[in-house]
Amino acid sequence: MTNDATKKPEKQNFFIDTHAHLDMIEKKTPEEVVNEAASSKVRYIINTGSDIEGSLKSVKFAEKFENVFATVGVHPHHADTFSLKEISLLENLIRDNKKIAAVGETGFDYFKNPVPQTDQEKAFVMQIELAIKNNLPVVIHDRDAHKDTLRIIKKYSSEKQFRAVLHCFSGDISFALKCIEEGVYISFTGVLTFPNAKNIKEVAKIAPIEKMFIETDAPFLAPQPKRGQENYPSNVVFIAQELAELKEMELDEVAAATTRNAVQFFGLNI
Ligand SMILES: [Zn+2]
Ligand SMILES: [Zn+2]
Repeated sequence: MTNDATKKPEKQNFFIDTHAHLDMIEKKTPEEVVNEAASSKVRYIINTGSDIEGSLKSVKFAEKFENVFATVGVHPHHADTFSLKEISLLENLIRDNKKIAAVGETGFDYFKNPVPQTDQEKAFVMQIELAIKNNLPVVIHDRDAHKDTLRIIKKYSSEKQFRAVLHCFSGDISFALKCIEEGVYISFTGVLTFPNAKNIKEVAKIAPIEKMFIETDAPFLAPQPKRGQENYPSNVVFIAQELAELKEMELDEVAAATTRNAVQFFGLNI
């Protein structure tokens, strides 16, 4: 925390929701959601693709809304049908659209996921290679799969073009530091605001803010004050507030730092 009045935080006192699924929101229209975000100082939203249809929609949102960027990719829940055909579809989207900020979400999900591990790994590796080839970062989904996630990260971390974020970070501080050591970023959802999320709060306290983003994962994981409800990008402010408290920083400083990180990492042309 800085009390030095001469050290003014940067002017970027707005937020970026780095991971949301506008196509899965049911109770509001995308227009309403995007406008509400903008009036809550959530100036940009990165809409995440989690299957081919979702990736096509993601690109459409980015075309329609000036303040929305897209990622394209296939989630481990849908990895069983992933093959070269999907890679070429994703690659065509990347080639034709300037607002694609990353490949993903991809990775491992071992929580009640019927998709075989080998299929998940194949889709993950193929999407990492697609990202590297196109000089894009990778949005990694890791649920109950820290060991395998780190193994794959280590396989690619020495490659110059490899950039990755662990979205909805759910590990402990030791895992976080291992990922950061490999150059990987971590991103916090509303889980950070849950009273029982001790491990995640510890990560937020200890890990460097230079390696952090904030996200809603809307419509899922609404932060504590809205827990159980449909989640929206405007709620990313609650996550920023929690992070500010944990790190003993001003909210504006958290906004500036996480925004700067996201703009650089995703190469956002804003
Ligand atoms: Zn995810
Ligand atoms: Zn997601």
